[in-house]
Amino acid sequence: MPNKKIIIANWKMNLSLGETKVLAKKFVKKFTGFKDGEVAICPTTIALSEVAKILKDGRLKFGAQNVFWEDNGSYTGETSISSLLEIGCQYVILGHSERRAYLLENYEMIHKKVMAVIKTEKLTPVVCIGESWKERETDRRDFVLVEQLWQALSGVNVFGSQRIVIAYEPIWAIGTGTAIRPDEAEYAHKIIKLALNDMFGMQVVSNNFRIIYGGSINPKNVKGFTDLENMDGLLVGGASLKVDDFYKVVKEITK
Ligand code: PEP
Repeated sequence: MPNKKIIIANWKMNLSLGETKVLAKKFVKKFTGFKDGEVAICPTTIALSEVAKILKDGRLKFGAQNVFWEDNGSYTGETSISSLLEIGCQYVILGHSERRAYLLENYEMIHKKVMAVIKTEKLTPVVCIGESWKERETDRRDFVLVEQLWQALSGVNVFGSQRIVIAYEPIWAIGTGTAIRPDEAEYAHKIIKLALNDMFGMQVVSNNFRIIYGGSINPKNVKGFTDLENMDGLLVGGASLKVDDFYKVVKEITK
């Protein structure tokens, strides 16, 4: 049986706590009876425990947009893995390009976060990689993707049923309204899969890894991404802020 598609809503810092609660409740209502894919909502850190309460029946999952690699101590402003687990968080986005750009998150930090999350076996990291427009134009895309995978995942041991989601997010496509062409996404996902096969072996990759796409997906363009061989799901930003749009995206990709 094919794996269920994973669709992650990244709400970024777009909503207040009150707005988050309202939208989460709308999601619960809209997704009543939905069982074709795995849907997770990633609100701000401050909203996580409220969202956990709203999603308590477990049909929709939720995740954090970031976490720290140490579990406790003098790390002002950070959030630990164990506190995410305490409230039932199942996903955590790591190394998003916005954090790389605005918070100066570098390869070493992302690697430390991946290592720490993997150890728990209970939280699924969503590791974001993707090329800039310049890297794409100068034909360095494949190299950049492989390099980012190596930087994030080298030395990682994948145990048992631990899942790792790789989100291919071309930086130039995020929040711009222009998604990548589906055939190009398929090509990039193939490159990612081959690089993962080199690192972990085909069996582990097929059992434990999923590759999803993110970057300006909306109800109009999602159709082209539905039947791609190496497309295990989507990370959705802007279109996840409107429950009807997001629902259409999810329904289409899980067809
Ligand atoms: C993202 O930032 O993860 C993302 C996919 O955003 P958008 O869908 O708005 O491009």
